[in-house]
Amino acid sequence: MKAAFPYIGYHSIALKDFLTALGAKVCLPPPLTKRTLELGVKYSPEMVCLPFKITLGNFIEALEIGADTLFMATGARKCRFGYYSYLQEKILKELGYQFKFYSVSQYSPYEFVFEKMPQIFNVSPLKVLKALYLMIKKSELCENFKNSLRVIRAIDYQKSLIFEKEYLKKIEGVKKIKEINILNKELKELRKKWLKNNGIKLRVGLVGEIYFLLEDFANQELEKELSKFGVLVLSKRSLYSRLKHLLKMEPGFLKIYYYARKYLSVSPGGEALNTIGEAVNFIKKGVDGIIHIFPFTCMPENIALHSLEKISEDYNVPILSLSFDEHTSKTGLLTRIEAFLELLKRRKK
Ligand code: SF4
Repeated sequence: MKAAFPYIGYHSIALKDFLTALGAKVCLPPPLTKRTLELGVKYSPEMVCLPFKITLGNFIEALEIGADTLFMATGARKCRFGYYSYLQEKILKELGYQFKFYSVSQYSPYEFVFEKMPQIFNVSPLKVLKALYLMIKKSELCENFKNSLRVIRAIDYQKSLIFEKEYLKKIEGVKKIKEINILNKELKELRKKWLKNNGIKLRVGLVGEIYFLLEDFANQELEKELSKFGVLVLSKRSLYSRLKHLLKMEPGFLKIYYYARKYLSVSPGGEALNTIGEAVNFIKKGVDGIIHIFPFTCMPENIALHSLEKISEDYNVPILSLSFDEHTSKTGLLTRIEAFLELLKRRKK
């Protein structure tokens, strides 16, 4: 089996290790580029949200280099994510590619461990559980790495480039739980050291649609751009937090849910409740502003947008909402960020 899945930023490392532990040869496509997007846009319905287009392009590039088995997560059908896998499989088959396609429901952990994965990989549920544990630990490491990278980037951008290269190699290399725990500890201590000795100019909470929060190509490297202005980006979303939430191992979600309920009584699907609850949580923790990112046609995040306007008024904290589609220009994005940061700086003074 030559398996592939859509990239989700640094967190892809944990997914790769999960499939490898089950016996697959992972066949990752080249990094996401303008070509990936162009391919996705060419073969997708025009009005579908941007993550669909990018992940479709991602699959095409994986098939081009020899992948024969594709894995795609699927949602609860409250938003379009619930339909991604069906439509993508159909489009790719119509394009003439030969492959197996597995949609993996996020909401059936029992089926995932005891039925689906053992059937696909011809392994025991115990082996799946071991691989799942490895993925959870590795995703924790990826989250920890990203949080450390955020701190170092905000303080010394040039040094963060060296750190990123060095630690990505280390993270990819560790396969045993003991080694992962050691590296996790090392990263936490390193982050503490950086935070102790250096002043951070601004702190911004990043909220929004999950794919856009995880995949730097989708958000046009927004975090990197912010850090060049000395901004420490705070974000709660990661593969690790998602896995913990799905396995009911994240009690912190109750607080986020509680904050969100004041502004939105019913979930419109997607990550709207997280967006709202996390924004309130960041504000209570004293951030200077909030940046909200989402795909242009994303229904749940457009609903969250209205609640965020109310939150901005209630707490007197600036919130910048940025929607993206395939035509979004980086220059326009940078201009808006600069103006927003200028506002934050003046308020801080
Ligand atoms: S959350 Fe928004 S962008 Fe993501 S799949 Fe649903 S509708 Fe599309």
